[in-house]
Amino acid sequence: CGIVGYIGEAQAAPILLAGLGKLEYRGYDSAGIAVRDEATGKIEIVKEKGRLRALVEKTDNGKAVPGTCGIGHTRWATHGEPSAQNAHPHCTEDRSVVLVHNGIIENYQELKEKLLKSGYTFYSQTDTEVAVKLIDYYYKKTGTPLEAISRAMLRIRGSYAFGIMFHDYPGKLFAARKDSPLIIGVGEHGSLIASDVPAILDQTRKVYYIGNLEIAEITQEEVHFYNIDREELQKDLVEIKWDA
Ligand code: GLU
Repeated sequence: CGIVGYIGEAQAAPILLAGLGKLEYRGYDSAGIAVRDEATGKIEIVKEKGRLRALVEKTDNGKAVPGTCGIGHTRWATHGEPSAQNAHPHCTEDRSVVLVHNGIIENYQELKEKLLKSGYTFYSQTDTEVAVKLIDYYYKKTGTPLEAISRAMLRIRGSYAFGIMFHDYPGKLFAARKDSPLIIGVGEHGSLIASDVPAILDQTRKVYYIGNLEIAEITQEEVHFYNIDREELQKDLVEIKWDA
């Protein structure tokens, strides 16, 4: 339902929680964040059922979760009951890929059966867990995040906005979308991903719009866009003039 991502100089978790707070009006049943701690290289995931407040309290307003790169989500369950287990971010067992998702993967059952045959196991009832494991499957095969994401996009039917972290790529976020909104914000000291403008207005008013079936590769300083054939696209920054 709500997506926020951040990579920059500041601590990520407080920015993610503040952004998710701006998207609360859309409704949700659970919330979670994933942040990479640069000191250890580990990606920590904290998820709670119910109000965002529970997550804010558990993490001391994000201060207890170190790291400057992360993704956050407020979930409105479509597949699988509202629970901490089913809340996003979702990940592979070794946390090689961690992901948040808005939308619905329509053919998740069929994809899940194929992944089960390839040896993947599942801990949640969500359609989203299938997406993260499908991307991991192609990542292990191809070794590049961009190719993994684009190949998964070719297999997935339905709607999605994804915010994605790869353990092997510190300092980078990836985003992709089809029929579900997603924007990139470019701030003075960092870049952001969001499903809606209000989530990033505290940080910046400069945004890129990701088109349907496009992928973005995001660092603190740069954003690159690709179509599903992995051809680079040129985009213009847009200035948000209105107040949310
Ligand atoms: N279909 C996903 C789920 O049920 C995402 C729902 C959403 O957009 O929040 O977990």
